[in-house]
Amino acid sequence: MSVALITHPACLEHDTGTWHPESAERLRHVLRALEDEAFLPLLREQAPLATEEQLTRVHPADYVQAILAIRPEPGEHVPLDADTIMSAGSAEAALRAAGGAVLGVDAVMQGWARAAFVAVRPPGHHAEARRPMGFCLFSNAAIAARHAQASGLGRVAVVDFDVHHGNGTQDIFYADPSLFYGSSHQFPCYPGTGSELECGVADNIVNAPLAPGSTGAEFRTAWQQRILPALDRFAPELLIVSAGFDAHKADPLAQLRLETADYGWITGKLLELAEKHCRGRLVSVLEGGYDLEALAASAALHVRTLLHA
Ligand SMILES: [Zn+2]
Repeated sequence: MSVALITHPACLEHDTGTWHPESAERLRHVLRALEDEAFLPLLREQAPLATEEQLTRVHPADYVQAILAIRPEPGEHVPLDADTIMSAGSAEAALRAAGGAVLGVDAVMQGWARAAFVAVRPPGHHAEARRPMGFCLFSNAAIAARHAQASGLGRVAVVDFDVHHGNGTQDIFYADPSLFYGSSHQFPCYPGTGSELECGVADNIVNAPLAPGSTGAEFRTAWQQRILPALDRFAPELLIVSAGFDAHKADPLAQLRLETADYGWITGKLLELAEKHCRGRLVSVLEGGYDLEALAASAALHVRTLLHA
């Protein structure tokens, strides 16, 4: 069974301005890397628009309506906070990003793909239920998790190897023992959350903070000693990955020092657990990654590892 690649050209139309690190070039670089003939077996699908029903399983209806009502004129930018910006194309991009994550869940639950990589933007893991934040408008991974539960699953896990802590996903999952969130991230760093003491209502939140300068060795130890054993105990029926590639040593936004190969390693470990607990079902959703070459190479290795499982 193959791996789905889900994306949409509308995700390139979310325009954050000239100097913003979260640019359309990021997604172009990832998609270009996935044009290599090694990726011919990918099932390529267009991300649909998320529905109001799907979005409001995570975000209040008035929040969804307020975000979708922000429709700047072409060329205009509306800042929602210091670094979260909307343009004329942002509302559709955000709907496609969340809808792509939902389609990834449908793909693996309906069985026409074993795994899915959802290459979309804006990213999602900083968006809280009622607050856009950190380049994020809707919580794509949480929307996917709630969709999986609405489709019949009980326990769903999101794991997050983006260099930044996914405060939004954690916040949305914190009080619900049917949801698990595990994250490695630089600490201290934006957004400031993600200490080991934040553990949810049922130890369903597992944070592995890493000091600035940490390498792949510390990253692997954190996953092997802390996050993967907790994920194994949680025994999810579906594994969703918040796949950010900004812990790479080349990334300009933080100071972890992962090599591209570390992304192949973590992908393999997550596939093992998905095989053990989830019938192999794994949905990976793009989050950060701001060095264009490192992002493209790391995402390509991630998807290549998914393909060859
Ligand atoms: Zn990040």
